Amino acid sequence: MKQLTAQKFRAVYGRAPEIVAYAPGRIEFIGNHTDYNGGTVLGAALDRGVWVAVAGRPDGRRQFASDQRGAPVEVRADDLTKRGGATSWVNYPLGVLAALPVFGATAPKGFDYLATSNLPSGAGLSSSAAIELASALAFLEMAGERPARETVVQIGKHAENNFVGVPCGILDQGVSGFGQKNRLVFIDCRGPVFATVPLPGDAHFWIFNTHTKHALVDGLYAARHRECMAAARGLGVSLLVEADAAALEAGKAKLAPEIFKRAKHVVDEIARVGAAKVALAEGDLVAVGKLLTASHRSSQFLFENSTAELDFLVDALTTTAHVFGARLTGGGFGGAVMAMTSGAFGDKEARAVAAAYREKFGTAPDVLHALTGDGAMLL
Ligand code: ADP
Ligand code: MG
Repeated sequence: MKQLTAQKFRAVYGRAPEIVAYAPGRIEFIGNHTDYNGGTVLGAALDRGVWVAVAGRPDGRRQFASDQRGAPVEVRADDLTKRGGATSWVNYPLGVLAALPVFGATAPKGFDYLATSNLPSGAGLSSSAAIELASALAFLEMAGERPARETVVQIGKHAENNFVGVPCGILDQGVSGFGQKNRLVFIDCRGPVFATVPLPGDAHFWIFNTHTKHALVDGLYAARHRECMAAARGLGVSLLVEADAAALEAGKAKLAPEIFKRAKHVVDEIARVGAAKVALAEGDLVAVGKLLTASHRSSQFLFENSTAELDFLVDALTTTAHVFGARLTGGGFGGAVMAMTSGAFGDKEARAVAAAYREKFGTAPDVLHALTGDGAMLL
């Protein structure tokens, strides 16, 4: 892909790139809506992502192109206003340029820029974090700066939160930044502190993207965030991570039933992340799979961020041979389900699940057999 990216860069700009950087997409393995509650989460970087190639321009002009979009877009070097419409994808690299000085880094002035990708975008696999981190590494290298990996992750998150305007937690950029092949990224969101744990050899990931998205998804996210904060206040803690199952039961009478359900999801989910980490260390994929499916059932019945489509896929997958467990991955209210399977699960099984889904909902989900891969890097 590096070669291909350089080739495409040449085709667009008529010269070779000076720098090529890469960052992967990710899946949320387990740890649903735990990040903004100060909890823990496990994610996997995928072997797919976004490549960003750049070359400096002495005339100070900035040109942005993507192999998924049309002709290059020119943006004046002093123009850091958010764009709408067909060129709004440029907000991701622009957001990174706006974030660099916030972290004491220098934004390069003039350059030609090209993004290429083999990661579906808008599928819940965090192509947004991938383009942010690849852009950040490329821009930093242009400026001759190599800050710590944590800083690159925070630059990407800052761009997404403050410029693009998506209030994502640290999971997306943290996993894209710290991912490693055959390992999962463990994040304690309170630091945040990043670590990796080995993924047992026979664990395979299959992702079923429904392409459904609840019309009110942004409002629903915000509502869940508010409900979690209300639960924490009701329990007398600043974030739900400070309450365990016993504290939650003791405070149950102080919470409205709906708020209790949201809090129970988060508190139990943080416990499940811990249990999954232990089971992974023991190589017990059956136990890990049960935790994944339990996470989904908690989304379905307690946090109520699942949908009929996602539930159907989890039901179909967990009754299929060679599947350890399955759950919605990402924020929910539509999007994708991931299954952890043994190597014996293959195209035949995946096709049967997709066909059953199609029978029920009229359209087939996209199916992706994803491998883990390394985190963001300069090439
Ligand atoms: P996800 O992060 O799950 O893929 P988002 O909606 O957060 O979904 O981010 C998708 C957006 O990121 C796209 O609509 C586009 O603006 C931008 N993006 C991602 N990859 C690319 C790319 N290769 N080229 C241009 N824009 C991209
Ligand atoms: Mg995203």
